[in-house]
Amino acid sequence: MGTYAAEIAVPPPADAGERPADAADQPDEQHADGAEQPAIALGAAVPAAGLSADGPSPNEIRVPVLKNLDRAITGLITAVPPLLLVLAGSQLWNRELHWRDVLIFALLYVPTGLGVTVGLHRLLTHRSFKTYAWLRGLLAVLGTMAVEGPVISWVADHRKHHAYSDRFGDPHSPHVDHGGGWRGALRGLAHAHVGWLFDHSQRGARERFAPDLLADPVVAFVDRTFLLWSLLGLAIPFGLGVLIGGTIGAGLDALLWGGVVRIFVLHHVTYSINSLCHFFGRRRFATSDHSRNLLWLAPLSFGEAWHNNHHAFPTSAFHGMGPAEVDPSGIVIATLERVGLVWDVQRIGAERQAAKAL
Ligand SMILES: [Zn+2]
Ligand SMILES: [Zn+2]
Repeated sequence: MGTYAAEIAVPPPADAGERPADAADQPDEQHADGAEQPAIALGAAVPAAGLSADGPSPNEIRVPVLKNLDRAITGLITAVPPLLLVLAGSQLWNRELHWRDVLIFALLYVPTGLGVTVGLHRLLTHRSFKTYAWLRGLLAVLGTMAVEGPVISWVADHRKHHAYSDRFGDPHSPHVDHGGGWRGALRGLAHAHVGWLFDHSQRGARERFAPDLLADPVVAFVDRTFLLWSLLGLAIPFGLGVLIGGTIGAGLDALLWGGVVRIFVLHHVTYSINSLCHFFGRRRFATSDHSRNLLWLAPLSFGEAWHNNHHAFPTSAFHGMGPAEVDPSGIVIATLERVGLVWDVQRIGAERQAAKAL
């Protein structure tokens, strides 16, 4: 428990009071400089009260005020893109797909995807580097345009996933309470992929898992204005389509590919990290969960599919940990560091990697 608790990325419970003396004395390996420590140090030891072996306490679970409305909106966001995908498929079939739509897809997919991986995940959830407020806001906005929920809820769910990985309390484990055999496996994968979005029993409480972001005015603003950024993610491709194609029809085509199809693909790539990357692939490091590295998903997920590496070293800015492990998000962070836009980038030395290697 001690080792495990020291490596997850979750703040102590709000009611835990002061950090215990031994935790305060413990070297914080992810923030070795010790400077500018946030009140809640991710990667630091977590008081046992926050990680009961019996699972999460009620104050760790977020229950939406209007459960059915939440489910209806989630259903709409989940079901509409696949329905419109039929339209996109018919365009492909009839060779009506224009190069400009492919371009607009890529122009939207790359920045919003990086908004999720570099922004929502590596920066806001795990604090694997530091940056200016404006860049933090921009990354949060880009990630929000992926339409995966308000940013602080995203972070709270993901921190809870790390706190209870593949144990009771994990919001989206394919391995907990789904039964045995191939039926259990399929049920588990379906739950981890998309079913958990409709299940409010193990979501992360924002006050418990993301008090630092609730107190961050930039991130809290982006969180409050979730709808605005989601709609902007549709307006931009429409506008680009009109601009390049010169007609409303061209705008609607671009809205389909750069908006709807892009959201669909990014959703299912993200969902696959939660489902496939806890089920298929190789394990390089010893972790107490079922996380795995899934090579073929790495490029499309901007490096997030090196998920076993990530669970072994949650605060590392780099999920790819070898020359053959392509990690586009890591490349972006290293580039931003080189030009001075980000700093305190967390790296895991060869010695620490070797200590956990299988
Ligand atoms: Zn995971
Ligand atoms: Zn993570």
